[in-house]
Amino acid sequence: MEDSKPAALSPATSYTRVRDDGSAYLEGSKCRACGTRFLGERENCARCGARGFIETYSLGEHGHLYNYTIVYRSYPGIKVPFISAIVDLDDGTVVKGNLLDIEPDPSALAFGMPVRMVFRGAELANADGLGYLAHFFVPA
Ligand SMILES: [Zn+2]
Repeated sequence: MEDSKPAALSPATSYTRVRDDGSAYLEGSKCRACGTRFLGERENCARCGARGFIETYSLGEHGHLYNYTIVYRSYPGIKVPFISAIVDLDDGTVVKGNLLDIEPDPSALAFGMPVRMVFRGAELANADGLGYLAHFFVPA
Protein backbone atom coordinates (compact mmCIF):
# COMPACT_ATOMS: atom_id res chain seq x y z
CA MET A 1 0.00 0.00 0.00
CA GLU A 2 1.06 3.53 -0.68
CA ASP A 3 1.32 6.10 2.09
CA SER A 4 0.31 9.04 -0.06
CA LYS A 5 -3.23 9.64 -1.23
CA PRO A 6 -4.86 9.47 -4.62
CA ALA A 7 -6.51 12.82 -5.42
CA ALA A 8 -10.04 11.40 -5.52
CA LEU A 9 -10.15 10.45 -1.85
CA SER A 10 -12.13 12.63 0.53
CA PRO A 11 -10.63 13.52 3.92
CA ALA A 12 -12.02 11.12 6.51
CA THR A 13 -12.22 13.68 9.33
CA SER A 14 -12.81 17.39 9.70
CA TYR A 15 -9.18 17.76 10.84
CA THR A 16 -7.56 15.79 7.99
CA ARG A 17 -5.80 18.28 5.71
CA VAL A 18 -4.20 17.81 2.30
CA ARG A 19 -1.39 20.11 1.17
CA ASP A 20 -1.05 21.37 -2.40
CA ASP A 21 1.64 18.74 -3.02
CA GLY A 22 -0.84 15.98 -2.09
CA SER A 23 0.71 15.08 1.24
CA ALA A 24 -1.65 14.89 4.18
CA TYR A 25 -1.52 15.80 7.85
CA LEU A 26 -3.80 16.19 10.84
CA GLU A 27 -4.53 19.65 12.15
CA GLY A 28 -4.63 20.45 15.84
CA SER A 29 -5.17 23.39 18.14
CA LYS A 30 -2.55 24.65 20.56
CA CYS A 31 -3.14 26.94 23.54
CA ARG A 32 -0.65 29.81 23.56
CA ALA A 33 -1.35 30.36 27.26
CA CYS A 34 -0.53 26.88 28.64
CA GLY A 35 0.82 24.95 25.64
CA THR A 36 -1.79 22.18 25.72
CA ARG A 37 -2.44 20.60 22.34
CA PHE A 38 -5.72 19.21 21.07
CA LEU A 39 -6.69 17.22 18.01
CA GLY A 40 -8.95 19.19 15.68
CA GLU A 41 -10.32 22.68 15.98
CA ARG A 42 -10.87 24.41 19.33
CA GLU A 43 -11.96 27.91 20.21
CA ASN A 44 -11.00 27.82 23.88
CA CYS A 45 -8.61 25.81 26.02
CA ALA A 46 -10.19 22.92 27.89
CA ARG A 47 -7.19 22.75 30.23
CA CYS A 48 -6.60 26.31 31.45
CA GLY A 49 -9.79 27.97 30.21
CA ALA A 50 -7.99 30.61 28.13
CA ARG A 51 -10.17 32.18 25.47
CA GLY A 52 -8.77 33.62 22.26
CA PHE A 53 -5.34 32.01 22.73
CA ILE A 54 -5.78 29.07 20.39
CA GLU A 55 -3.68 28.63 17.24
CA THR A 56 -3.73 25.80 14.72
CA TYR A 57 -0.72 23.61 13.96
CA SER A 58 0.20 20.53 11.95
CA LEU A 59 0.50 17.42 14.08
CA GLY A 60 3.77 15.54 13.93
CA GLU A 61 3.84 12.01 12.57
CA HIS A 62 5.97 10.23 15.18
CA GLY A 63 4.81 8.88 18.51
CA HIS A 64 4.50 5.90 20.79
CA LEU A 65 1.74 3.35 21.34
CA TYR A 66 -0.06 4.29 24.54
CA ASN A 67 -2.81 1.67 24.46
CA TYR A 68 -4.75 -0.49 22.04
CA THR A 69 -7.57 -2.94 21.64
CA ILE A 70 -7.89 -5.70 19.07
CA VAL A 71 -11.30 -5.44 17.41
CA TYR A 72 -12.92 -8.71 16.31
CA ARG A 73 -16.41 -7.43 15.42
CA SER A 74 -17.17 -4.36 13.34
CA TYR A 75 -19.50 -3.02 10.68
CA PRO A 76 -20.27 -5.21 7.67
CA GLY A 77 -17.49 -4.92 5.11
CA ILE A 78 -14.79 -4.00 7.61
CA LYS A 79 -12.07 -6.61 7.77
CA VAL A 80 -11.37 -7.91 11.26
CA PRO A 81 -9.40 -8.33 13.40
CA PHE A 82 -7.73 -4.92 13.47
CA ILE A 83 -5.89 -2.90 16.07
CA SER A 84 -7.50 0.29 17.34
CA ALA A 85 -4.70 2.26 18.94
CA ILE A 86 -4.22 5.34 21.07
CA VAL A 87 -0.91 7.05 20.30
CA ASP A 88 0.97 9.72 22.22
CA LEU A 89 2.57 11.83 19.52
CA ASP A 90 6.01 13.24 20.26
CA ASP A 91 4.56 16.76 19.95
CA GLY A 92 2.22 16.12 22.91
CA THR A 93 -1.01 15.40 21.06
CA VAL A 94 -2.99 12.21 21.66
CA VAL A 95 -4.51 10.57 18.57
CA LYS A 96 -6.62 7.47 18.03
CA GLY A 97 -6.14 5.45 14.85
CA ASN A 98 -5.79 1.93 13.56
CA LEU A 99 -2.35 0.35 13.78
CA LEU A 100 -1.47 -1.44 10.53
CA ASP A 101 1.36 -3.56 9.15
CA ILE A 102 1.70 -5.63 12.33
CA GLU A 103 -0.06 -8.79 13.51
CA PRO A 104 -3.19 -8.07 15.59
CA ASP A 105 -1.77 -10.19 18.39
CA PRO A 106 -0.74 -8.97 21.86
CA SER A 107 2.55 -10.87 21.59
CA ALA A 108 3.52 -8.63 18.65
CA LEU A 109 2.58 -5.38 20.38
CA ALA A 110 4.37 -3.49 23.12
CA PHE A 111 3.14 -0.47 25.05
CA GLY A 112 5.45 2.42 24.21
CA MET A 113 6.59 0.97 20.89
CA PRO A 114 7.47 3.69 18.35
CA VAL A 115 4.91 4.27 15.62
CA ARG A 116 4.52 6.62 12.68
CA MET A 117 1.40 8.18 11.21
CA VAL A 118 0.61 7.44 7.56
CA PHE A 119 -2.30 8.32 5.29
CA ARG A 120 -4.01 5.70 3.19
CA GLY A 121 -7.34 5.04 1.62
CA ALA A 122 -9.89 3.70 4.10
CA GLU A 123 -11.79 0.52 3.29
CA LEU A 124 -15.20 2.16 3.13
CA ALA A 125 -16.31 4.11 0.07
CA ASN A 126 -18.31 7.31 0.34
CA ALA A 127 -21.68 7.95 -1.33
CA ASP A 128 -19.93 8.78 -4.61
CA GLY A 129 -18.25 5.39 -4.63
CA LEU A 130 -14.91 6.99 -3.91
CA GLY A 131 -12.77 6.38 -0.90
CA TYR A 132 -11.72 8.28 2.17
CA LEU A 133 -8.23 9.41 3.01
CA ALA A 134 -7.63 8.38 6.60
CA HIS A 135 -4.77 8.46 9.08
CA PHE A 136 -3.31 5.21 10.37
CA PHE A 137 -0.26 4.20 12.34
CA VAL A 138 2.46 1.74 11.42
CA PRO A 139 5.45 0.50 13.45
CA ALA A 140 8.35 2.94 13.14
ZN1 LIG B 1 -4.51 26.51 27.90
